[in-house]
Amino acid sequence: MFAITFAQVGQVAVQILPDAVLLEPTDVVVQVEMAGLCGSDLHPFWGREQGLDPGTVMGHEFVGRVIEVGSQVQKFRTGDLVFAPFSTNCGQCFYCSNGLPSRCPQGQLFGWRQADAGLHGGQSQFVRVPLADGTLLPVPATMSHELALLLGDNLSTGYYCAELAGVSADGLFAVIGCGNVGLMALVAAGQLGCRQLIAIDPVPERRALAEQLGARALPPGPEALAEVRRCSEGRGADGVLELVGLPAAQQLAYDLVRPGGTIATVGCHCDQTFAFSPVQAYDKNLTYRTGRCPARHYMERLWQRPEILALDVAPFITHRFQLDEGPRAYDLFSQRQDGIVKGIFDLR
Ligand SMILES: [Zn+2]
Ligand SMILES: [Zn+2]
Repeated sequence: MFAITFAQVGQVAVQILPDAVLLEPTDVVVQVEMAGLCGSDLHPFWGREQGLDPGTVMGHEFVGRVIEVGSQVQKFRTGDLVFAPFSTNCGQCFYCSNGLPSRCPQGQLFGWRQADAGLHGGQSQFVRVPLADGTLLPVPATMSHELALLLGDNLSTGYYCAELAGVSADGLFAVIGCGNVGLMALVAAGQLGCRQLIAIDPVPERRALAEQLGARALPPGPEALAEVRRCSEGRGADGVLELVGLPAAQQLAYDLVRPGGTIATVGCHCDQTFAFSPVQAYDKNLTYRTGRCPARHYMERLWQRPEILALDVAPFITHRFQLDEGPRAYDLFSQRQDGIVKGIFDLR
């Protein structure tokens, strides 16, 4: 099978590998029809996240057809069109039963192999899916591949962040980072009734997309802080959604939030310390909420809602690639060239 693999920091490769096969009776093998290129694929690509084995198939967003079914799989048959969250879930443990499947003890991330253990990813013609019954969902007939792909990760993560921040109809909320997850957080905030949204991103194309979603969009800096204060009688935002994962964004979130407000971050931080101090947190009566999105939980909550099925996600998919264009896609995305927000590999 053709696949995009991790070669070394700053480099992916297109490789021919042995086809994915069933290893456990609870596995299925999926023939990938669409795979996503996600901001978190860039963490190992940039070397911010270390330890990924060279040769690992990249990617954790995919939609495809079941082509092989393990003997203990009950919910899926050959030919089913399915979508997946970015990690496997047993579907039965305390965390899977209580809305936090991202902390399932049996959970494994797609596209992460370290010291020869772990899972290959979805930027490939075929992918092995362990714990298929607890992990996959069927794609409804009225849902596009693109929407299913986003619901497996970016859209669920955006919803999670909006809910962690306590987004409501009457508050003022700021979104830091308008990559695709930030845009999905704006979509979610809108669907949750929020009327006052300020979006912050340095890239003009991303700000334009944020404005189409009803936000006022500004570059990071004093102007953004002034606008948040102007809209809140000087208090600051009721909640800040931080989707960047860097110290400067964390500091900005602190500066923007009002006393008693909430910072919600699903940006993947790699630092060992906070940008602001415990004293500063105390002095603002701050609530800080964070963590990996329980994507499978959100998929199940959202996948049949009319307002989700009615979403037109076409404006967010800015680039389409073939698998053999993997290196170019990673270069373009990592350098934020050509207005790229969300790239997908369309294998159909
Ligand atoms: Zn992702
Ligand atoms: Zn579990």
